Amino acid sequence: MSTTASPFTATILGSPRIGPNRELKRAVEKYWAGRIDRAELDSVAATLRRDTWSSLVAAGLDSVPVNTFSYYDQVLDTAVLVGALPVRVAGVADDLDRYFAAARGNDEIAPLEMTKWFDTNYHYIVPEIGPGTAFELNPAKVLGEVEEAAAQGVPARPVIIGPITFLALSKAVNGGTTPIGRLDELVAVYAELLELLADKGVPWVQLDEPILVTDILPDAPELTERTYARLGALTTRPALFVATYFGELTDALPALARTPIEAIGFDLSAGDSAPVAAVPELADKLLVAGVVDGRNIWRTDLDAALGKLVGMLESAGAVAVSTSCSTLHVPYTLEAEDGIDAALRSWLAFGAEKVREVAALARGLKNGREAIAAEIAASDAAIASRTADPRLDNGQIRARISSLLASGAKRAPADERRVVQQDRLKLPALPTTTIGSYPQTSAIRVARADLRSGKIDAAEYERRMKAEIAGVIALQEQLGLDVLVHGEPERNDMVQYFAEQLDGFFATQNGWVQSYGSRCVRPPILYGDVARPNPMTVEWITFAQSLTDKPVKGMLTGPVTILAWSFVRDDQPLAQTAAQVALAIRDEMVDLQSAGIAIIQVDEPALRELLPLRSKDKEAYLRWAVEAFRLSTSGVADSTQIHTHLCYSEFGEVIGAIADLDADVTSIEAARSHMEVLADLNDVGFANSVGPGVYDIHSPRVPGVDEITTSLREALESVPAERLWVNPDCGLKTRTTPEVMASLRHMVAAAAALRSS
Ligand code: GLN
Ligand code: ZN
Repeated sequence: MSTTASPFTATILGSPRIGPNRELKRAVEKYWAGRIDRAELDSVAATLRRDTWSSLVAAGLDSVPVNTFSYYDQVLDTAVLVGALPVRVAGVADDLDRYFAAARGNDEIAPLEMTKWFDTNYHYIVPEIGPGTAFELNPAKVLGEVEEAAAQGVPARPVIIGPITFLALSKAVNGGTTPIGRLDELVAVYAELLELLADKGVPWVQLDEPILVTDILPDAPELTERTYARLGALTTRPALFVATYFGELTDALPALARTPIEAIGFDLSAGDSAPVAAVPELADKLLVAGVVDGRNIWRTDLDAALGKLVGMLESAGAVAVSTSCSTLHVPYTLEAEDGIDAALRSWLAFGAEKVREVAALARGLKNGREAIAAEIAASDAAIASRTADPRLDNGQIRARISSLLASGAKRAPADERRVVQQDRLKLPALPTTTIGSYPQTSAIRVARADLRSGKIDAAEYERRMKAEIAGVIALQEQLGLDVLVHGEPERNDMVQYFAEQLDGFFATQNGWVQSYGSRCVRPPILYGDVARPNPMTVEWITFAQSLTDKPVKGMLTGPVTILAWSFVRDDQPLAQTAAQVALAIRDEMVDLQSAGIAIIQVDEPALRELLPLRSKDKEAYLRWAVEAFRLSTSGVADSTQIHTHLCYSEFGEVIGAIADLDADVTSIEAARSHMEVLADLNDVGFANSVGPGVYDIHSPRVPGVDEITTSLREALESVPAERLWVNPDCGLKTRTTPEVMASLRHMVAAAAALRSS
């Protein structure tokens, strides 16, 4: 090695930061509301960092990731670090308020965009790079954490998003060229940072380059070699650890190995350790082996993991044990969870348990298998119990799926269905509808809290929810909408609601993970074969239908979205699990149909999210995703109208799959992209009905009648009137009732005006 830093043996790539009881979420939100000051917020944050670091040291890690704390997002932190915040926030005097203005916007400033972090459910802030961006080092945050950790005696390793990944995830603005073209300039700033960190005595720095496991940059190997040859050649610098995760490091590996960096991280739960043997340059590097899955919650097979580690030692200078990625994506600890049966509990490992697995494996690698015989025995016992558990193998469900898939039952062609459905529904041209949810009122939140605390019983809760539904139906009648919804008041979350009612799922009490900023979610655990013991939505929907003569849409979440927003079993292909969820949804649809419901919507907002990172895997994914949707929706008659809803406007690689879903009506986000998506749908031959969102629900702004009319006229250029629906972009859950009333009134008026013109 070119630096004097000695290799570490046990680490994780990053950790959760919201606090074991969401302390950071609460503090940040209080700060936003002006209820606490900066000093109090900083002190909550410092306590969380100290507790995190000391627990990692106590568990036996000899290198601890720092600078993984964030008030909002690590990509935004990196934008601040390299001086890449947009000019429009520059006027905000206080640095923290400027940071939050970039993340969330304020009355004058539009926020930066947010998008999914690779194929996870974490959302990052998309940096904007334009001609006005002048990179400049602003190391206060990372230096602050380094000093804090040093004062606490923590063997700290600052973690920073690497320059290639940072630019690849940024977007060009103000006529700027593609951000990656600025790589050399940005690398100069990183060089400055590395020199500074070396001066502070920092032995190791981790640079995260997950982009290298994707096909996003065709010239990744060349960019990698250029960047890391240059940073590696610095005479004053810490040892460099380039971490990759979320997939297998393939084409960029030889390039990276040729550079003088000291360590490379591999995600061995997503990939294989095999390519390592084929790269001779790895013989003097530290390989950081991510054998403990950082983003799913299953306990590690310690015996198999140790085998992999020992194998890797043959082709490496040294091997350190690690998680595959940051444990940001899993809950803090299993200990915060009661109510899990002993068997299921024994199969799981959350953040803290994963750290213990890493430490045990490092001991095993150093001192031999016998040194961790007890841990291996416990892991073996857990695996044996999981394999043998009858809940993982429901013969009846499996047989039904096989026979349904074999029978290949299909609905009639779409244009035939349209005729039968119109005969039954008699909808006007340009029918108006909404996407499902109505504002989550405080009455709803109070009812949910009262039920949880035992203040009210189930009957009273049901009474209150029905009152909400009645209110939403009355509102829609008053507005003159054509197809109504029940408003989804009974759903805390569109996936958890179903997970709580299906066999094979466990819904945690405290398993929070950060979704974005201060927002946290509790993904359910899908551990076994999925079955539907009882109807899940029929009572609410039929109640809503009983209040009106207009059709009320049944409202379900599709199989792909249920998988995308859960922790999913890893013992069988996702396609098989998706088919089981699909069967449950299919049965629910048949029950809704039998109860007289004529229109059923199956939401698939996550269809694009699960798209694999590597091109070679995409086709197979899209095939099973479409198959699962069709399995859920093909059990109902041609006269039952199937809707689906998708939450994004750039379909890109999934556009063909959307057509293949073959829903009778597809509602999609389109307002912000000016209906461009309709032309894309035409290009793939899509000829079913479509409801391009005519206004953006993400903002409190109320659109005018003229504006909506213009949108609809634009849409009519691509879609004939008999196939065009009129609806907002997405559900109305986050809006207020007055905003919703005004916007929908304008929407209905615009549709009416066009119909009579
Ligand atoms: N039916 C859901 C709603 O209206 C759809 C939400 C979504 O697209 N994410 O809230
Ligand atoms: Zn949506």
